[in-house]
This record gives sequence, structure tokens and C-alpha cells, in this order.
Amino acid sequence: MADCLFCKIIDGQIPGVKKVHEDALSLGFLDINPQAPTHALFIPKRHVSTLNDATTEDRELLGHLVFSAAKYAREKGLAESGYRTVMNCNKDGGQTVFHVHLHLLAGRSLTWPPG
Ligand code: 5GP
Ligand code: ZN
Repeated sequence: MADCLFCKIIDGQIPGVKKVHEDALSLGFLDINPQAPTHALFIPKRHVSTLNDATTEDRELLGHLVFSAAKYAREKGLAESGYRTVMNCNKDGGQTVFHVHLHLLAGRSLTWPPG
């Protein structure tokens, strides 16, 4: 998608992106506006706008994002203390970038329920 920010990040068109994970299916990078000491985003290389647009064919891809985030948390030594993974969808979910992404938040005690 030509005008999608995260597709541009995948294509290497955005400078300064701090990658934390990359494989054939997905990319992980640090959030530009972190909401926790560790805040990374895991995105599929294939453009999917929102969770509403995911099809059964995307099931493995979405699961892959979760496993990639958990692997990164383990590597960073955050697995034991814990973390949160979040996927916001559309207006009420607080989605601002319309390329599906999984947030990984860690490094502080997170409150529940979220705002
Ligand atoms: P959403 O609100 O859609 O769930 O999350 C979008 C996230 O993307 C936000 O946490 C925001 O800080 C992050 N973000 C927006 N633009 C950029 C960018 O150019 N680079 C990086 N690394 N993160 C971005
Ligand atoms: Zn995209």
C-alpha cells in the first residue's frame, strides 16, 4: 500500500526505525512514542488494515506476531516479570495506523482496565 506508513517502514523508506525482529513474514520495531520502558510493534509484511480485514488465511500470520513478540520479550529478559500484548482496532479501540500491529508493552506494572 503506497500511502501506508508501516508498509513504508517495511520497504525501508522511513529512516531511524529501530528494528527488534525481522523474518520472512513479520517485522518488529520500537514504537516512536513509547508508553512503557519497552514498547515494540510487531507487524505483518503483508498489508492488512485492521483486525476486521483479517481472513482465515491470516490466522497463522497473526499467531506469528504473537510468537514473535513473546520471543522478543524472552530475549529481553521480560518474560518472567511479564508484559502486555495489544491489538487496537478502529476508532473505539484507539487504532491510529491502519496496518495491523501488535503492541508489546513491558518494563513497568501496567494498570487494568486500560483507559
Ligand atoms: P495504534 O494507535 O494504531 O494502535 O498504534 C500506532 C502506534 O504506532 C503508536 O503507538 C505510535 O506511537 C506508533 N507510530 C506512529 N508513527 C510511527 C513511526 O513513524 N515510527 C514508529 N516507530 N512508530 C510509530
Ligand atoms: Zn501497510
